Amino acid sequence: MKRSDRPAVRRAKLLRALKREKLDGLLVTNVHNVRYLTGFTGDDGILLVRPEETVLITDSRYAEQAEGEAPSVRLVVRRRGLMLTAGRLARREGIGRLGVEAREMPLASFDDLKANAGPVELRRTAGLVERLRAVKDATEIEAIRRAARIAEEAFEALVPQLRPGMTEMEAARRLDRGMEDRGAAGPAFPTIVAAGERSSLPHAPPTGRRLKRGEAVLFDWGARFGLYHSDLTRVLFLYRIPKLFRRLYPIVLEAQKRALGRLKAGRTAGAVDAAARDYLKSRRHRKHFGHSLGHGVGLEVHEAPSLAPGAETKLKAGMVVTVEPGVYLPGRGGVRIEDLVLVTRRGYESLTSTSKRLEAIPASA
Ligand code: ZN
Ligand code: ZN
Repeated sequence: MKRSDRPAVRRAKLLRALKREKLDGLLVTNVHNVRYLTGFTGDDGILLVRPEETVLITDSRYAEQAEGEAPSVRLVVRRRGLMLTAGRLARREGIGRLGVEAREMPLASFDDLKANAGPVELRRTAGLVERLRAVKDATEIEAIRRAARIAEEAFEALVPQLRPGMTEMEAARRLDRGMEDRGAAGPAFPTIVAAGERSSLPHAPPTGRRLKRGEAVLFDWGARFGLYHSDLTRVLFLYRIPKLFRRLYPIVLEAQKRALGRLKAGRTAGAVDAAARDYLKSRRHRKHFGHSLGHGVGLEVHEAPSLAPGAETKLKAGMVVTVEPGVYLPGRGGVRIEDLVLVTRRGYESLTSTSKRLEAIPASA
């Protein structure tokens, strides 16, 4: 196993986890997990991982791609159903106890697998690969860093173009185009631009509503670079800052600062969430912050760990998470401030650096 063969290193870690769980193998059906463990980027592929060998089952459309992308695994080109092929293979190899990814396995597929696996004992598992994915290696961190840089540079280029009269959709389109021009494969997720009172909707798709002078505009956006993502949120003000936001903005910023201050390897995810949430409670905004504080970002925009109330996951150096407290006043407006950070042994390193200063875009910009 070459050191540069990252998928092989990851599979070796997974095998150690399987041993702890007393499993002889794992059937990996989550497409992102398959990518992580092999490098194969096709949509049709599942993986049978066991100590003896790893088998990638795909169909003829992807055979050539799989050979090129995942040279270190054995390829099985199926002619019949995925689960039928996997079940028969597991049976033929004499696997005793096979783990399945219960969250990624429709009941019909499970039945199909069971019907074809004969005496193989199927065990439900959850999060075995996701837990490995939560801690990023150097190449992953580099890809996320690039995804963040692209998103921020595109945003910086957009800000001077913002004008009253521009629609939310037009602003979103310009931002998306800016990211693609800078090397993104596309936006990490549908870009959110929410103006004025619409900023109180945490996940508002952009509409034809026009930006007005003297109002807030919330942007939540990110880029996809290769297979990796970035995710951040900023609130800007067109020419003038409304009174409501002069009050809300510093409160949310302070909540974020408190959460970042608690972020460090060894702390629980719930403790970091509580740092922001307790502060917002103390400012009487407990009910106005409904979502969790943050989430992991990597092959997916939302992945482990979740920085949620009571979450007991211990943070580890190498995790990449968002820290995004928000206060939303229905019908009036909302503020969310989101940064992407790398957890370190001593604290964290921010992967995003777009200004968070409360200031209006000057009319002359
Ligand atoms: Zn976001
Ligand atoms: Zn987010």
